[in-house]
Amino acid sequence: MTANNAFTRLSKILELERKQGYRNKAVIGGLDKLAGRWEHDARAETSDDTAVSEIMALMLGYPALDDPTVRERIIEKILARVDAMSGAPAPSADGESPAELPATVKDATERPAEPSLPPIIKPTPSKPGNGLPEPLPAPRQTPRPETLSTSAPRAETQTTEPRTKDPARRPARTELPAFGLEADVTRLPSVGPAQAQKLEKLGVHSIRDLLYLLPHRYEDYSQFRTIDRLRHGEQVTIIATVWKIESRIIGEGRKMVTAVVGDGTGEIMMTWFNPYIERQIQRGRAYRFSGKIDNYRGRPLMRNPILESLDKQDINTGRIRPIYPQTEGLTTNWLSGVMKKAVDAWGEDLPDFLPEDVRRQADLMPLGEALSQIHFPDNQLRLEQAHRRLSFDEFFLLQLGVLSRRKTFRDQTAKPLPSDAPLVAAFVDTLPFPLTGAQQRALGEIVGDLGRSQPMSRLVQGDVGSGKTAVAAAALWLAVANGAQGAIMAPTEILAEQHARSFTKMFAEIAHPQYQRSVRIALFTGRMSQGERDAALAELANGDIDIAVGTHALIQEDVTFRELAVAVVDEQHRFGVEQRAALRQKGIQPHVLVMSATPIPRSLALTLYGDLDVSVIDEMPPGRTPIKTKWLTSVQRERAYAFIRRQVESGRQAFMVYPLVEEGEQPDVLAAVTEHERLGREVFPDLRLGLLHGRLKGDEKDTVMRAFSDGEFDVLVATSIVEVGIDVPNATVIVIEGAERFGLAQLHQFRGRVGRGQHESYCILLSDADAGDGAQRLQALETNNDGFALAQIDLEMRGPGDFFGTRQSGLPPLQTAELGDLRTLELARAAAQRLFAEDPHLTHPDHQELAQQVAAFWSGAADQS
Ligand code: ADP
Ligand code: MG
Repeated sequence: MTANNAFTRLSKILELERKQGYRNKAVIGGLDKLAGRWEHDARAETSDDTAVSEIMALMLGYPALDDPTVRERIIEKILARVDAMSGAPAPSADGESPAELPATVKDATERPAEPSLPPIIKPTPSKPGNGLPEPLPAPRQTPRPETLSTSAPRAETQTTEPRTKDPARRPARTELPAFGLEADVTRLPSVGPAQAQKLEKLGVHSIRDLLYLLPHRYEDYSQFRTIDRLRHGEQVTIIATVWKIESRIIGEGRKMVTAVVGDGTGEIMMTWFNPYIERQIQRGRAYRFSGKIDNYRGRPLMRNPILESLDKQDINTGRIRPIYPQTEGLTTNWLSGVMKKAVDAWGEDLPDFLPEDVRRQADLMPLGEALSQIHFPDNQLRLEQAHRRLSFDEFFLLQLGVLSRRKTFRDQTAKPLPSDAPLVAAFVDTLPFPLTGAQQRALGEIVGDLGRSQPMSRLVQGDVGSGKTAVAAAALWLAVANGAQGAIMAPTEILAEQHARSFTKMFAEIAHPQYQRSVRIALFTGRMSQGERDAALAELANGDIDIAVGTHALIQEDVTFRELAVAVVDEQHRFGVEQRAALRQKGIQPHVLVMSATPIPRSLALTLYGDLDVSVIDEMPPGRTPIKTKWLTSVQRERAYAFIRRQVESGRQAFMVYPLVEEGEQPDVLAAVTEHERLGREVFPDLRLGLLHGRLKGDEKDTVMRAFSDGEFDVLVATSIVEVGIDVPNATVIVIEGAERFGLAQLHQFRGRVGRGQHESYCILLSDADAGDGAQRLQALETNNDGFALAQIDLEMRGPGDFFGTRQSGLPPLQTAELGDLRTLELARAAAQRLFAEDPHLTHPDHQELAQQVAAFWSGAADQS
């Protein structure tokens, strides 16, 4: 072969490409495919490696740059370079001074011809304020980038797919999988015991686990640019040849590596604070570099770009790049390398557990494809589709489990508690108020449940102050009236005491219909003496006590009922699944009522509590004046103080809520302990200030709360601990500092601490938030008093995270699906219901894999029997 052959051939192809209008059709597979074959011949014909690399870079970048004018320029550049080659004898690749850039690079662009490096690497080292780029911490990076494809044939794989599906994404199936998906990750070549241990921390044991270790975010480097088209701030990939590499020590053993790279349209400097980079790049070779375009003294610069050699798979550069959850000692680069191998080798083998008709009806990707795309997406659209498929899976498995749990529960028998209108009225009529319409509706539903031999499992949702207690009391009454017992469990002693007091009042007027005596109520808390407790336990066991009110003291092992027929859990979200289950266990098969002030939009409640029936109390008792909510900024803080003072002077009390317990946990965030001390010294020296936070012991907390409730403090300085439903009707103002730091649900709960008596009440939000979610939340709160409306707003704003998690509902955690994604959720719910109606036990042979997946998914859930 003569020296001109490869180059002449290339010229011809490029001419053709020009004639055809830059459609990348002049050669089968496109210019980038040609590059791989051409490089071999070209290197054999010339010793000018630099020229070959440069032409390679241009050819490889060509398909991704699909603007015809850009393509035109690239073709012109390559042609010019090829022409120069066929004229001049090849220069020696050795012995050039690094500062001497090849002539073509200099004239090729309109930039000022300034081949020497910009001053960035010249000035005296590490003097602060000298304009040097900030030394960035060196990213942790494995010294040996164990890429997967070292054995993969470079660019040789034939495919007619567009650039986004180049061989790197569709490699020949790796030889690996002689073992199954359940095999240990250590079966993968690059995963040794040390890495396996670290993966274990991320919950990864098997290859299947690894495939399901999903990126927690992505960096989009799918935009390719030529250097002359770089814009500041853009995240891009460039394909360029390294012209020059330098490094220097910048103090304390830290090293800065600088490179100048060019792609024929210009040059750009790159810096790394990672000494290993020197081992990864070679002068004269071309790479894909991905990163953000920064600038230094008006020149473009890439700091710490990631890079991959052109003959390697594009795992991290030139694409939407997956970023995995960090764990000590595992870099995203390493992890994505291993992942790529696993995805390529196993992805397609993943049996799709979704029945085909379900998958088609919901228009979902096959599982293998979804997993491959979720890790290494071809583009945003495919990523969304993959995400949707995996979300659907979770909702579907969730829903199937919920349906089956519901069925199991319904198949059991409970003691029916029949009642008629006069029996219910016997209790309701003793209340000092008529029930609201919503209370009556909820009670009606409960009465209906209790009459049946199927155990009740009902959630009563009602905003703070909507009157859930009276409804619960009526349910307990029906247990008592039928000669059995009832229990109600509350999360704090204060609340339990409060319930005991109000129940005693409510039941004072009625006699026990069977035993000709009054209804007996006992309080169980951790504060009882042993003697008191023993006596109460005996009476509970023999049925002398009708209603037990208590904290988790109620679910201690020694507590036994003669016959527990109705169990109520108040503020249910404050209890763990096991605690709720423990209360249920105190009866043979009691009717269970759980109450929550955490409002959940109905469609979500149906999924989260699919095994519960839901009653909603969506109406407030009459005569409440809505709480006035005002957002002030920190410069207006004095106004808040003055307001508190006036309220206290007229006999009222105030809450002040702070984001932190102690100062210094986070700078610039006010802390309860410190502020309590400062307020006492500087602002309210004459007032009585209480302090409440989570680091106090349980009984200390209760003592403080009780004192506040009894009016012994004017102002209670507290952390978010005041959230839970306690009633201090005399408190009329709550000031929330750093309000933007709290979630909407929490803020609404705080606000519910006031406005519980006959006095007009106020909520003051102190915050300097000026934009973003925080500000939106505060605005929503200022204009809205309805918890359900706020829940809806919160759901729209940021998903359901703040209002409830699946955890506290006793459901398995969701990894991909977002509860705010109501469309997918509804789709999955409908599909699950259809399937469940046909094959509730998933015994059909086609549903075996699905049954296993449901079981595996639910093994992550806390047991709620
Ligand atoms: P929550 O739903 O937050 O548990 P509570 O049951 O504690 O609310 O009720 C809040 C207050 O409203 C209590 O003081 C209660 O006596 C009162 N209340 C409940 N129902 C009514 C009603 N129908 N009419 C007037 N006041 C009511
Ligand atoms: Mg309550």
